[in-house]
Parts: sequence; structure tokens; C-alpha cells
Amino acid sequence: MLTDDKKNKVLVVGGGIAGISAALSAAKRGAHVLLISSEGNVGGDACTGMPILGTYSSVGEKCVGGILDELLEICKQISGGYIGPVCDFRTVYGLCINPETMRLAILLLLKKYNVDLLLNSIVSDVEANNGTVKAVNVVCGNGEKRIIECRNIIDATGSGNIVKMVGGKVLYGDENGNMQPVSLIFRMAGVSFKCLLEFIKEHPEEALLAENPVLEKDRKKAAQLLYQNGFPYVALSAGGQLLGKAITTSEMYPCTAMFMTPSLMQTGEICINSTRIANLNALEPDIASKAVLDLAEQLKTAIRFLNQRVPGFENAVLSSVASRLGVRETGRIVGEYELKQDDVIHGEKFSSAIGQGTHHVDIHGAGVSQVRIPVENGAAYDIPFECLLPQGVKNVIVAGRCISSDRGANGSVRVMGSCMVTGQAAGLASAIATEQGIEDFRDIDIEHLRENLREQGVILNPV
Ligand SMILES: Cc1cc2nc3c(=O)[nH]c(=O)nc-3n(C[C@H](O)[C@H](O)[C@H](O)COP(=O)(O)OP(=O)(O)OC[C@H]3O[C@@H](n4cnc5c(N)ncnc54)[C@H](O)[C@@H]3O)c2cc1C
Repeated sequence: MLTDDKKNKVLVVGGGIAGISAALSAAKRGAHVLLISSEGNVGGDACTGMPILGTYSSVGEKCVGGILDELLEICKQISGGYIGPVCDFRTVYGLCINPETMRLAILLLLKKYNVDLLLNSIVSDVEANNGTVKAVNVVCGNGEKRIIECRNIIDATGSGNIVKMVGGKVLYGDENGNMQPVSLIFRMAGVSFKCLLEFIKEHPEEALLAENPVLEKDRKKAAQLLYQNGFPYVALSAGGQLLGKAITTSEMYPCTAMFMTPSLMQTGEICINSTRIANLNALEPDIASKAVLDLAEQLKTAIRFLNQRVPGFENAVLSSVASRLGVRETGRIVGEYELKQDDVIHGEKFSSAIGQGTHHVDIHGAGVSQVRIPVENGAAYDIPFECLLPQGVKNVIVAGRCISSDRGANGSVRVMGSCMVTGQAAGLASAIATEQGIEDFRDIDIEHLRENLREQGVILNPV
């Protein structure tokens, strides 16, 4: 017999942006939610200062609402919290937010909707029968072991860890198992945005610009627009003289670009995404732990290079180092539908869509390499519900980076906007399944789910 408490409980594993969105959407529906995460904090990469991508199309159309809107409302109420959608005049609009404000907004919203947290705790195993999970085994940070019964589970582990435990199939990296590089994100304050943007205006060849046919096609004009906009959303390119030469002379480590985005306008703070180690498996604990140490050395190199060589950074100081290793790629579940690279590029629509993605196919490689293929015509593509459903598993639904997608599509759908979309849908589906006593997520009425997502402010195509 299930206790009443268990009947209503939605279990989310993973406290990154996908897990947060899932927990909040289920809790908004009135479900009693328990969110378990192995980290000591929640929000994941949304609290590093990177822009939330996949929320605006390349022509600046808003494509993600729902939980994102509620978080943004809180950020806007806090001074310096919200910057907004900014165009990089290269490929995308990134939604720029002060990461510390985002961290606070997430915590406040979890509190508002009474989500229970169990942090520093790892789901080590599941008790499952025939593709149905009955309970999870949890090891807490103090060594205590708990068995938590559940109706169903949202796997927001970024890697399909729960699906794998239940016996579902998970794919890793490319055909040779190679994965996108890991990085350590950092922020620098006291940057002169004006000097930096002036430099790019005078030397457009130093930046990645004008790559998307729906944006300004002339590099010089794109750099001018970037300057006029006043936001330092700049990708200093390895193809340029400044960074290129530094890489050749080993003054800098090889990287595609130093991707810079504004994270706090008032203090001249910029988030920098540049450090990288390719082709390591971040799921291997020894390897991932060593990578943090190696990336720390790169980070020191990057600061020296910026201070000494890049206009605008002469007096800039380190203001933050991300508290976690940035993992772009691990596992992708094999689901009832695999989102394809072509679906992304052609802006494909699906009647079972639970939301939209807009980010280009974005696959970082080793050294200076990176694949970037924009969505045609600056459109958005649909994410079908079936991508969240692992084959052969009944009561586990997946949210975030690890949904069913080929490697190219995953290069798009892995960004935070899309993770929020799949998180919100998984959370609501789990709440509905719990309410209605549905054991297999395949039995959810998708039209009913879509209606309820719309009511929660999710932007859906009227297919
Ligand atoms: C360097 C880098 C740059 C990026 N740049 C951008 C960008 O500019 N904009 C953008 O939108 N996106 C960007 N991304 C992508 C994006 O940040 C991630 O794909 C996204 O945040 C993943 O969110 P998630 O919730 O799916 O997974 P995660 O944030 O990885 O969360 C998963 C959580 O589950 C926990 N967990 C795993 N297994 C268990 C278990 N068994 N028990 C308990 N807890 C568990 C993990 O510890 C983790 O806390 C970037 C990623 C990287 C690494």
C-alpha cells in the first residue's frame, strides 16, 4: 500500500536547470515534490554567468516562457539582476542575467512552491521491476542511506543516469565515444566594455561575427552594430591575429574563441567561456576531478592574456570561478523518438511538441574546432514529447541535456533554454501521471499535457 504522502510525491533527480524547471512545474500544479541532487546547490550552469541560449530565435523572437518567465520576474525586481536578450551579431540572441541573482531567484521560487530539497545526496541505485521503478536508493552526504519509494521519476541527471540504472539504453558522445570538451567558466569585473567594443569595431576580423544569414552579413557592419548596442557579447576568435598568434606562440592554450557575455553591467563584469579539454569522459570521476585542476591552469593563462593583450581588460580582475566543472556532453537516452540534426536545422514541427528550441547545432571539438549550423530562417523547432520517454522504461521521464537526440541535435537542445522546456514538460507530465495513477508515461494524453503547459505560460506552436 502506498501512503498518501507517496501518492502525491513527484521525485526529481538532478538539481541543474532542467531539474529545477521540472520541480517547479510539478509543484505549481500542486504536487508534493522532492528534488534530490548530488551537488550542494541548485541551478547548475544557470548560475555561472553564461547566457541562457535557446530562449530567443536568431531573429529575436521569444520562444521559451513558463518557469523561465517566473524566474526572470524575480531577477528584474533585484537591482542589477536582469540584462535581457542580447544579439551577438554572429548567430544568436543570448538571454543575459546576473548569475547570482538567478541563483537567488531559483531558491526563492523553490521556497515559494514548497519544493523539498535533498542536496549532497546521490541516487546510487533503483529498485525496478519490468521497466517500472518502485524506489530509489539514496546515499546522503553524511553517509546515511535512504530508500525512497516513488510513483515515477524525472531523470534530470544530465546523463540519463536513472534510465541506465533501470536498464534503458544511453548513448555516449560520437561514434567513437568522443565527447565535447569540458570547460571551467569564469568571470572578470572592471572590464571597459567601451574599449573592448571599440577594438572589435576597428578590428572585426578579431571576432566571430556575421555567421547567420538572417543577421547582418557584413562583418564590418556587424561589429559596428555590436558597438552601438553597447553589450560586450563578443567571441574573440582564434582565427584573428590577437588570439591566433597567442595560441601559436603557446601564450594561450588552443580554443575556438574566448566567448564573452555580460553578466553584470554595473561592475563591468563579463563571463568568459574559453578553457577546454576535449575528448575526456566527464562521467569518469578520476578523469573529471583531474580536469578541474588542469583547467585551473588554463584559467590563469587566460587571465594573464586578457590583462596583457585584450583592450578593455587592462584593469580587470577575476570575480568568480565556476563552482563546478562545465560538462557539455555525456549520455543521451535512446527514446521513443530521437530528435535529429535535420529537425533542428529545418525548424521541424511536431503535433506532440512540448515546447521549442532555437539554438544552432553547436558542437565544440578539440583545439580550435567547432561546428556551428544555424536553424534555417531564424526559426524555432519543436521538441516532441517522445524525446523524453526512454525506450523500455515505463515510469521514468527525462529532462534536460540527456533527452533522446542524435549528436547534432544534442548540440542544440543541450542549451539551458531547451533544458528548461523539457524540464517543465517532464515536471507537469509527472504531476499529471501521479494525479491520474498513470504508470506508463506513454499513456499520458499529450493534448491534455499541451493544454496544461500553455496554461503555465509555455510557448507552443499551434500545430
Ligand atoms: C562550458 C559550457 C558552456 C555552455 N554554454 C552555454 C551557454 O552559453 N548557454 C546555454 O544555454 N547553455 C550552455 N551550455 C549548456 C548547458 O549549460 C547545459 O547543457 C545545461 O545546463 C544542462 O542542464 P541539465 O539540468 O540537463 O544538467 P546538469 O546541469 O548537469 O544537472 C544535472 C544534475 O544532476 C546531478 N546528478 C547526476 N546524477 C545524479 C544522481 N545519480 N543522483 C543525484 N544527482 C545526480 C548532477 O550532479 C547535476 O547537479 C554550456 C555548457 C558548458 C559545459
